[in-house]
Amino acid sequence: MRKRPALLPTTRTSTGILVNELLLAQLKACPVCRGELSSRSDECPGCGAQLAPYYEQIDEANRTLTEAFNAVTRGEIERARELGGKAQAITPLVTENVALLQARIALSEKRFADAWEKAQGLPDTVKEKSGLLHEIVSLHEAETTGKQHFNLALTSARREYYVDASYHIERAIELIPYLAPVWRLAVKIELKRDRYEIALQHLEEGLRRFPNETYLASLELDRSAP
Ligand SMILES: [Zn+2]
Repeated sequence: MRKRPALLPTTRTSTGILVNELLLAQLKACPVCRGELSSRSDECPGCGAQLAPYYEQIDEANRTLTEAFNAVTRGEIERARELGGKAQAITPLVTENVALLQARIALSEKRFADAWEKAQGLPDTVKEKSGLLHEIVSLHEAETTGKQHFNLALTSARREYYVDASYHIERAIELIPYLAPVWRLAVKIELKRDRYEIALQHLEEGLRRFPNETYLASLELDRSAP
């Protein structure tokens, strides 16, 4: 027997919020008699169970999940985790959706192996699965390439080939801006080239991303000293 898709097509929740088709869980079977439910109704056509309480739970869990996915998009990972746990506690019917959320969270934290494992564990009926797996692979490749550019920038800088070093560190910035050493090296290289304007831009962007980075913070301190 062909498995039914786990998730609903794009639709509105009872609050009227338009949610992505991939984020919604649905009541596929009656929790009392396990009979398949083809459309939303207050009463199970098979056993007469009152379904409204289950739909209310699912709606609430779906709203919570939608918020969680939005939080990932905004980079609010702790909030996303908290909301995922909340959705799971409301109803186990969102388990797959929460697994998808966890894969997204792992990916946004660049924990590639973890993201891969979580995404692989999703049933094939989850439409987002193959797209997510591709995304994980391509971001992982980008990180590898970014680190290679970082190493080339470092090698060039050590040989005092600062023009080459600039080129490679710019590529690294494009690919792996979420790693602090990239910003440290970028500032050092541009200072060596007396390109203070660019060094300052890198310093500011680096500090915005890593406010506690010791080297960058010490430069900032020097700059603001009288
Ligand atoms: Zn029933």
